[in-house]
Amino acid sequence: TGTDPLLRVAGLHAAYRSVKVLHGLDLEVRRGEVVVLLGANGAGKTTTLRALCGMVDTQGSVLLDGVELVGRSTEWIVRQGIAHVPQGRGIFGVLTVEENMRAGAWGRRDAKGVDADIERWYGVFPRLAERRRQRAGGMSGGEQQMLAVARALMARPKLLLLDEPSLGLAQIVTRGLFRQLEEINRDEGMSMLIVEQNAELALSFAHRGYVIESGHIVLGGQAADIRADEGMRRAYLGY
Ligand code: ATP
Repeated sequence: TGTDPLLRVAGLHAAYRSVKVLHGLDLEVRRGEVVVLLGANGAGKTTTLRALCGMVDTQGSVLLDGVELVGRSTEWIVRQGIAHVPQGRGIFGVLTVEENMRAGAWGRRDAKGVDADIERWYGVFPRLAERRRQRAGGMSGGEQQMLAVARALMARPKLLLLDEPSLGLAQIVTRGLFRQLEEINRDEGMSMLIVEQNAELALSFAHRGYVIESGHIVLGGQAADIRADEGMRRAYLGY
């Protein structure tokens, strides 16, 4: 129903073989919400996103629109409506921009809808429109990150997972990218769960946030409250 959260994670455990990384995580993303996951290196942020996509051994519950995802394959989970923009972007460097966009639409049979979506995301990312026939690998880091986001959106997800979109980008490029993400959230109502080292920037954009430490959630709340929290400021915001 409309009042249930889009994503409800409860008691999530995840491990790489015998190495346990998540120890009973609880979190929610509501419809239309941007939620940021903060924490130190190695806290388990990337593993959380991977666990939601069925890319690591997982126990507990992950409900997307009331549908249980734990124990399912990544392919099945993607079809349920989760799209993942991994750290390092994972675009196909030898393919063109537009071929990458079409690759994001695998499994869709609505050719006209795919064409319309390509034009729609070119509208949000004009740089990609200019470079549609160019090899993706020849573009700048910022352009490649835009492409990774646009490609994920081509799957028409209910929830977009973003793993450190600012990694390796200049500040001004990062700010531009976050403005575009904000536009996609505002104009398309796209829900997002985002891992980001740049806590200040992420909290200025997100509605809510969680802080993860050694595989546990230690703090959750409105982005403005997390920003105002003195311990948080000292630990993550550097002022
Ligand atoms: P970062 O910001 O550095 O990516 P993170 O919070 O995303 O940090 P994770 O990448 O989720 O942290 O890693 C959490 C823990 O899991 C770390 O101790 C890490 O060493 C371990 N880990 C990550 N990937 C693997 C793997 N493939 N095999 C074994 N252990 C792993």
